[in-house]
Amino acid sequence: MRVLSGIQPSGNLHLGNYFAMIKRMIDYQESSELFCFIANYHALTSVNDPGLLRQKTLDAAMDFLALGLDPKKSYFWVQSDLSEVHELSWLLSNVTSMGLLERSHAYKDKTAKGIVATHGLFAYPVLMAADILLYGSNKVPVGKDQKQHVEIARDIATRFNYTFGETFVIPEADIEIDIATIPGIDGQKMSKSYGNAIEIFSEEKALRQRVMSIKTDSTPVDEPKPIKDNPLFEIYSLFLDETGRETLKERFETPGLRYGDIKKELFGIIWEYFAPYREKRAEYVRNEADVVDILRMGANKTREVAQEYLTKARNNVGLNYTN
Ligand code: ATP
Ligand code: MG
Repeated sequence: MRVLSGIQPSGNLHLGNYFAMIKRMIDYQESSELFCFIANYHALTSVNDPGLLRQKTLDAAMDFLALGLDPKKSYFWVQSDLSEVHELSWLLSNVTSMGLLERSHAYKDKTAKGIVATHGLFAYPVLMAADILLYGSNKVPVGKDQKQHVEIARDIATRFNYTFGETFVIPEADIEIDIATIPGIDGQKMSKSYGNAIEIFSEEKALRQRVMSIKTDSTPVDEPKPIKDNPLFEIYSLFLDETGRETLKERFETPGLRYGDIKKELFGIIWEYFAPYREKRAEYVRNEADVVDILRMGANKTREVAQEYLTKARNNVGLNYTN
């Protein structure tokens, strides 16, 4: 089974990315063929600072490696090292109706938040379909915000197969229901580009400050605290098993709990949880050239799979005019 997912180097990676996607991908490398990429072409839809894009691309690669992604057990590359994906994207564009793209929630959300409504942002789901289909992916581990995009990729693949004959595997989104949408410190979806994220590799002071500014309601101390739509409860729960979650629920429901105390506790938990990964990450930062080598080798290995699907698609649409 092939499992694929990507992350945009549009900012620093955060708890939402980690629990909904990164951690699950790393777990998959033991049981599946794992395809994991840094989506820098996609990031161009929101980043227009070249220095920043370069830096965040390497940062994201170091984050994944530090968190346990093993380039020997997986396919790990930077999206722009395989420009084949654009050729496929064009082939897919021609079986993608405007109506399908007009229904994209992510496009509407992002433009509503002030991100410029470019053609790139509008066509994002087509490039994402190409990312998925180019490697014959069966499963795509994502957060709930990406569910619709994977469904669009399914529609496009189905349409292409129907029009040009069996070419692509029909992929499926793989969403963990408990952590489908992780809230940011303001209670909205945690996002790199919304300024509401708790970053995995923050400095200690910045992390404490972030955790202390998680939005809470004004329930008096001597009353039970709500757990529904309470970002503090939801973020804390990410670090707990079922029993731990039950205990936390009881603590919230017992009068006397102070949000400030819970926040301090949560800061300590996050800081400890990522401590071993922080050390590994520091090693990669000292050896940046090795990271670049890993990415180059990853792209070469992945290209072979890409060529296979791209050739099939080119042939099936009739671009091979010589035979
Ligand atoms: P951006 O704001 O630039 O879109 P992002 O934080 O949404 O960044 P992406 O790179 O778009 O991150 O998404 C990477 C992966 O993380 C995707 O699988 C996405 O579904 C998942 N993800 C992102 N934010 C959350 C969240 N708050 N809860 C659950 N999953 C999330
Ligand atoms: Mg996103």
